[in-house]
Amino acid sequence: MKKNDIVNLKIIDTTLQGAGVGKIDGLTVFVDSAVTGDEVEAHILKVKPNCAFAKIHSIITPSKNRVDAACLSYPKCGGCSFRHIDYKTELLIKENNVKNNLKRIGGVDPEFEPIVGLATVGYRNKAQYPVSLEKGELKIGFFAGHSHRVIDCPDCALQPTEFSKAVAVFKEFLLKNNISIYDEETHKGLIRHIYFRKAVVTGEIMVCLVVNGDSLPKSDEFVEQMKSVFRDDLKSVVLNVNKDKTNVIMGQKCVTLYGDDHITDILCGVKVRINPLSFYQVNHDVAEKLYEKAAEYAEPDGKTVLDLYCGAGTIGLSMAESAKKIIGVEIIPEAVTDAKHNAIENGFENAEFFCGDAAKAAEKLKNDGIKPDVIIVDPPRKGCDAELIATITQDFAPDRVVYVSCDPATLARDCRLFKEHGYDTVKAATFDMFPRTGHVETIVCLNKQLFQQ
Ligand code: SAH
Repeated sequence: MKKNDIVNLKIIDTTLQGAGVGKIDGLTVFVDSAVTGDEVEAHILKVKPNCAFAKIHSIITPSKNRVDAACLSYPKCGGCSFRHIDYKTELLIKENNVKNNLKRIGGVDPEFEPIVGLATVGYRNKAQYPVSLEKGELKIGFFAGHSHRVIDCPDCALQPTEFSKAVAVFKEFLLKNNISIYDEETHKGLIRHIYFRKAVVTGEIMVCLVVNGDSLPKSDEFVEQMKSVFRDDLKSVVLNVNKDKTNVIMGQKCVTLYGDDHITDILCGVKVRINPLSFYQVNHDVAEKLYEKAAEYAEPDGKTVLDLYCGAGTIGLSMAESAKKIIGVEIIPEAVTDAKHNAIENGFENAEFFCGDAAKAAEKLKNDGIKPDVIIVDPPRKGCDAELIATITQDFAPDRVVYVSCDPATLARDCRLFKEHGYDTVKAATFDMFPRTGHVETIVCLNKQLFQQ
C-alpha cells in the first residue's frame, strides 16, 4: 500500500478524534470522518510502519450511525470530530475510550456509571475566535485541525447564536474602520482574537478583545456595536493586551473598556465571578452534574477538603456549605482573586485559597501541618506531576482522592501511579462536557487500600 492508493475498507472501530479504523493485511488505517459500520473507498494519504492515514474517497455503504453533519465548516474547522455520527453512538465511543484507557494504560477496572450527555447545540459559554487576514480576506472563526489557518465559522452550532451575530458585526466594524489584523509571521497588526463569555444563569455577557497593542481605535463605536447585539446583557467589555510572539491566546494585562472587569454566573447555587483570565467550565449544565458527582464521591460533610487546580474555586465552593473547611490551590493569580471573592460573596468563611503550583503548595501545606480528609485534583490535560501524587499519597495519605480529568490517557497514567502508591480507582463516571468534539471529561474516586488504613 502506498500514498494515493484507493482501497476498499470496512470500518470496524471509531477513535475519539472521530476517525474510522480499518485494517488492510493487518495494518491499521485511520480514515478521517468515517464511522464503525461504514464501507468506504479510502484514499491513502500517508503510510507509516505501524499504521496509515486516509480520507474518504467515496462511501460504498454508509453506517447506520452516520448522520448529516449539518455544518458548512465541518470537518474543515478543527472544532468538532463527531458531527457525522449520531449522538448516542458518540457517547458510546467516548465512554468506551475512557474504559479502554483506564484498563490498558491504567491497569485499573473501576465500577462505571453511564455517561452523562445533555444539549449538543449552543452549549458553550465561551468562544475564542482567532482573527486573521488570509490572502487579503478577513477571517474570524476557528483554526483548521493541526494548523493556524483560520476557517470562517459564521454559524457554529456549539456556540450561543448571539456569539455568531457579534462576530458578523465585529467583522463589519473592522472592515469599515480599516483596523489592522495581527500577523503571526511578521508580528505586526493589532487584532489577535475576539472572545465571548456568557454566564448562562444570569445571562451576563463579557466581550474580550485580544490585541497586539495598548488601545483600540474607535473603541466607543466597538462598545456600541457589541451593545447592539447583546443589549442589556452586555456587562463587560475588556481589552486584553498580548504583545508577545506566542501561541498563547491571552496576555496578562486587561483594560476595561465598558462595564465591569468580570461577569457573574451561578453554578451549583454558588455565585461565581468570572474574569477574562480565569478558567471556568465551558458547559454550565454538564459542569453542575460533574460537581454533583464530585460531591457524591468526596462526601465532604464535616471534612477538610483540599481542592487542587481549583480555578475560581468552583468545585470546593460547591461543597463549602457542608464541609468543615475548603483549601484551594491555583496557579493563575486572577483566578485566585476570583476564588477569594467568590468565597466572601457567598458568605463562606471556611474557604481559603492560595496561589501557586499545586505540587509546591501541597508540599508547603503538608509542612504547615494541614491534614485534609479528602483531596480533589482537577489538572489540565497533562495531568498531575509525579511529585504531587507522591505528596498526596505518602504525606497527606487521605482516605479518598477525587480526580477530575479532561484527558483519559493522562488520567489513566496517573491512576496507575496512584495504584502503585496504594490507592485503588474504585468508581468512574464520564461526562460529555464537549459534545460533538473529541474531548470527554471523567471523574474517578480513588480509595486508600484497606491494608494501608
Ligand atoms: N477546578 C476548576 C479548574 C479546572 S481547570 C474548575 O472546575 O473550574 C485546571 C486549572 O488548573 C486551571 O485553572 C489552571 O490555571 C490550573 N493550573 C494549571 N497548572 C497548575 C499548576 N501547576 N498548579 C496549580 N494550578 C494549575
